[in-house]
Amino acid sequence: MSEMYDVTIIGGGTTGLYTAFYSGMRDLKTKVVEYQPQVGGKVSFFYPEKKIYDVGGFLGVTGEDLVTNVEEQAEFVQPTILTNEKIISIDKKDDGTFVLTNAEGVEHQSRTVIVASGMGTFDMEPMDVENNEKYEQDYIHYTIQRKQQYKDKRVAVVSQSRVGIDWALALEGIASSVDLINGGEMFKATYEHDLEQLEASSVSVHYNQSVKSLVGEDALQQLTLDNGEVVNVDHILVYEGLNIEKSMYDQWGLATEKGRIPVGTDMCTNEEGIFVAGDAAIYPNKTMLIGSGFNEAMAAVNSAAKYLNPKASAQVYSTVIYKYE
Ligand SMILES: Cc1cc2nc3c(=O)[nH]c(=O)nc-3n(C[C@H](O)[C@H](O)[C@H](O)COP(=O)(O)OP(=O)(O)OC[C@H]3O[C@@H](n4cnc5c(N)ncnc54)[C@H](O)[C@@H]3O)c2cc1C
Repeated sequence: MSEMYDVTIIGGGTTGLYTAFYSGMRDLKTKVVEYQPQVGGKVSFFYPEKKIYDVGGFLGVTGEDLVTNVEEQAEFVQPTILTNEKIISIDKKDDGTFVLTNAEGVEHQSRTVIVASGMGTFDMEPMDVENNEKYEQDYIHYTIQRKQQYKDKRVAVVSQSRVGIDWALALEGIASSVDLINGGEMFKATYEHDLEQLEASSVSVHYNQSVKSLVGEDALQQLTLDNGEVVNVDHILVYEGLNIEKSMYDQWGLATEKGRIPVGTDMCTNEEGIFVAGDAAIYPNKTMLIGSGFNEAMAAVNSAAKYLNPKASAQVYSTVIYKYE
């Protein structure tokens, strides 16, 4: 049986990471369990390269930098952060503690649980090319993550979506060349403005083409298109859609509303000892925004602290906790 934690947070998105910081700051032994290989949730997955203007204190921070900052903030209190683990069940034992079980059957013990798992898990649609496993690990990517890794590299973006246009434009000026390969005649869900920007850019667009084969001794060097054209590449970024697996909160014994968990301002769920924060929560006028998740994280941790010790303060000041640092 695993070590007992005070708080186990399901989900390492921006909400889960900030929850981990706040929980550690309140001196609670804290663990985060995240399904993806990396933390950051939707911000890392969908828009790491974009600038965010509506998080307090950060005017125009990129998604990547925001995640790095909130991850550093979490690490300040040294929580245990596990990735590549999907929680599939939560069981309450007779003594009131919880056992969380992941998809491989590994169990985590905790006195409380904070659900910060958004709407569920995402997996990218993989690129279907014969020998892609050889290059998958190092040269084929499904999220843009850290633009600078493409500096002076030849990059091909494979996508029929506006996301592909965004990625191609974000890498223009960083990569030495950008080819955008679209299997159809047009881009889906695009605005006129995106197409105008694409046309004005140095990105080479290939319509009605898919990747037929990949070439390169060890490292990736070239790809071949249906029409026989050879494109020199070091990295391929693929966005061909998402598979979303919604969280089964009802199977965890939690009340649900529109697939999310209804709560009051204390972030308590219908199950004593389980709390919620971020996009997973629903209440009147709830906004699904990064800042709302941070606020709910504090409320959820404060409720968990009170649940664990009814004499704990309802709120704390970091300036008092860290006054000698
Ligand atoms: C395109 C787009 C643009 C946006 N722009 C803005 C913006 O400009 N400003 C703003 O404030 N907000 C914006 N948002 C909203 C913002 O991204 C979300 O509100 C925020 O990311 C929610 O964070 P979260 O941590 O609650 O959930 P998520 O980011 O969804 O994180 C949940 C995490 O839980 C993990 N998880 C799920 N189930 C399990 C499980 N069973 N076991 C383990 N791990 C699990 C997931 O893998 C994920 O990493 C935008 C959203 C999108 C999609």
